[in-house]
Amino acid sequence: MVAATLGGTLGGALVIASAVGVFAPGTKKLAPAAHPSDTVMFNVPAADNPRPSQAAPAPRQRVDCRRQKCVALTFDDGPVLDTTKVLDMLKTKNARATFFVLGMQATQYPDIVKKAAAQGNEIGNHTFSHAKLQGAPAATVQTEIGRTQRILKELTGKWPTLLRPTYGSTDKQLDGICKQHKLSQILWTVDTVDWQDRDTKKIVDKVVTQTQPGSIVILHDVKPTTVAAVPEILNKLTQKGFTFVTVPEIYGNQLKPGEKYPAFLGSPQAGLAPPGT
Ligand SMILES: [Zn+2]
Repeated sequence: MVAATLGGTLGGALVIASAVGVFAPGTKKLAPAAHPSDTVMFNVPAADNPRPSQAAPAPRQRVDCRRQKCVALTFDDGPVLDTTKVLDMLKTKNARATFFVLGMQATQYPDIVKKAAAQGNEIGNHTFSHAKLQGAPAATVQTEIGRTQRILKELTGKWPTLLRPTYGSTDKQLDGICKQHKLSQILWTVDTVDWQDRDTKKIVDKVVTQTQPGSIVILHDVKPTTVAAVPEILNKLTQKGFTFVTVPEIYGNQLKPGEKYPAFLGSPQAGLAPPGT
């Protein structure tokens, strides 16, 4: 997805809450800081301020990915209306996935985010507007990440712990900001290039042939050709004995904030690679 411009919507609204006692006109005062993402304030339009989810998370079936063949399907750039189709497909297979959502899309489709979380899927941060974070000014990175953190917290009742950097591009500054927001950076091991190919059969074949135990598969639920591939992906990988889990579950829920996964990204503490990878 092409990065949207930041200018009009986000420009100049960054204020550090702990550093100021006087709030700019139109700035929303936030609840007391309980999380690093709370310490950054923004001019949040009313539409960005949804009500917390009432839905309780689905009971979690325990999975041990050291013993079971696990795969983490991840869906980027949504939510869009089609995301509900993906959620229904996952539900019929008792499957979970990870959705790396854009803050601006979550604002547009808050109920879809709530539904995804209530079904036991993981909701990760993929920036507000799909801006490229690598090499961007620190204030832009803070805004893109912090604003989305707050939106998702309000929708799901939980601070996201995962960030997928846009374009898979990261740098030292992003590492530091992720640590500040208690976010692990999540890349992938199976790239379908579904955003480019837009060929359902090709996408199915790539996922099914390349997936190993412990794979993290990148898909885009904003592409109808990808959504159409999901039933076959679920069927064929189920036949091969795979269990569909979230990214934290792949790592035994032991991801460390500020680290990058999978382990081959060179993060010293990211050594909890599942078997077979
Ligand atoms: Zn993306």
